[in-house]
Amino acid sequence: MAAVAIVGAGVAGLTAAHRLKRHGIRVVVYEASGRAGGVIMTERRDGYLAELGPNSLMSGGKALADLLSQLGLDASRVEAQREARKRYIVRKGRLVALPTTPSQVLTTRLLSNGAKLAIFGEPMVEPGDSPMEESVATFVRRRFNQEVLDYIANPFVGGIFAGDPEQLSARHALPRLHGLEHTHGSVVKALGQMMKAGGDERSPAPPPGLISFAGGLQEIPDALARELRSEIRLKAPATRIRRGTRGWTVDAAYQASELYDGVIYAAPAHCADDVELAFEGGDRVKTLASITHPPVAVLALGFRAEDVAHPLDGFGFLVPDVERRNVLGVLFSSTVFPGRAPAGHVLLTAFVGGVRHPDLANADLGTLTARVLDDLRLLLGVRGEPTFRTFHLWPKAIPQYALSYGRFKEIMDDAERRNPALGLTGSYRDGVAVGEVIGAAVQTADRVAAQLGAAERHGQ
Ligand SMILES: Cc1cc2nc3c(=O)[nH]c(=O)nc-3n(C[C@H](O)[C@H](O)[C@H](O)COP(=O)(O)OP(=O)(O)OC[C@H]3O[C@@H](n4cnc5c(N)ncnc54)[C@H](O)[C@@H]3O)c2cc1C
Repeated sequence: MAAVAIVGAGVAGLTAAHRLKRHGIRVVVYEASGRAGGVIMTERRDGYLAELGPNSLMSGGKALADLLSQLGLDASRVEAQREARKRYIVRKGRLVALPTTPSQVLTTRLLSNGAKLAIFGEPMVEPGDSPMEESVATFVRRRFNQEVLDYIANPFVGGIFAGDPEQLSARHALPRLHGLEHTHGSVVKALGQMMKAGGDERSPAPPPGLISFAGGLQEIPDALARELRSEIRLKAPATRIRRGTRGWTVDAAYQASELYDGVIYAAPAHCADDVELAFEGGDRVKTLASITHPPVAVLALGFRAEDVAHPLDGFGFLVPDVERRNVLGVLFSSTVFPGRAPAGHVLLTAFVGGVRHPDLANADLGTLTARVLDDLRLLLGVRGEPTFRTFHLWPKAIPQYALSYGRFKEIMDDAERRNPALGLTGSYRDGVAVGEVIGAAVQTADRVAAQLGAAERHGQ
């Protein structure tokens, strides 16, 4: 029986291990910390269910659907509630609903007439010759204008990457959106067609495919860890991955060195420098550690419902950088999914830091809480003190797919080409969203299994 070592028990490593097992391959997962799940972290306490990492994931895609059904998670899956369809953006210190239909774009207070003209005129803008690396900001300014960048693209990039559109590569950070220019000639035209295909745009359905689980997102790594059991070695950081004539050797702290037929590196890119990578191209793979990962602090706060003036009738709000507030955004967590706060209470989850305010993410908890409360009081009319609070700091949260990210992709492709049965997968590879990370991990496991001559036992 072939054997593969997996480094990292985040959702990428656990998914890859699960998939390899289905190919009849023996797996060992090395995890540096004392728990499985990586940045997926759910806390249940005092009647609240708070997410300290990702809050929801986009359903859709066969890899994710197959994984959830194989893990028996379909029954506990929860869809975002219908009210969560509305998303707010802050403008001039107030929450304004993001327009999602042409008539809403015409009447919204979020945008000036100039920005509205830029949106309706976008289909007439000739596709550019798509320079190899164009920033998200350049792309949006080229197709729309500065205000659309400031009040739509900037807050969304803050919400997904905790990043800066001037630094992120349009092609690598938002490949689907960027590609629409060439597939449809226009972003607006393409989005309009997609909305029509997805049903009546006025339908009061929840946002397409946003899901979690009754026990929070932690249910995914928990189910994977239950299935893998003793194949996961906790508190076992890999220190060396070496390719020799007889196969691959992995050294990890407190573990005897072991021989494998293949290796999947599923630890974060910023950890690549902590591991000796003794294989062809390994030195270049170590340069992944130079990818920027800004810090993000997550602060989940519970309040008595009567202490919040805003109806919290949406997914949450995002803050454009030009508005100069403390938070990147706040989720109305108890509106998005049921069962997140005790009766008569609400749960808000605030994200602070990112490329915009790294120092604030790293501030002491007292300062951080005070700054978040400042924003909540001004923007949501919150009164009084929180009845529940929990916090987590991710010092290196999300890899930034910045300009010239293509160079890192070439390094990874090249290392995999030169070293059969090596896989490099995780949030640094083909998208940071949980669904994308799962899809990439399945693909990597399938490729490694094929290189080892394995056939899937259960068929797909
Ligand atoms: C605050 C936050 C909010 C987010 N919100 C969303 C969201 O709402 N929706 C969404 O789709 N995505 C969201 N994301 C992104 C998504 O959660 C991540 O991209 C994804 O979970 C990363 O999974 P991973 O397995 O690649 O990495 P990780 O989860 O980072 O796991 C990597 C694992 O490798 C381990 N490791 C490190 N070094 C070693 C070593 N030497 N040996 C062994 N193990 C090692 C680490 O301890 C860790 O457990 C969010 C991310 C963050 C940080």
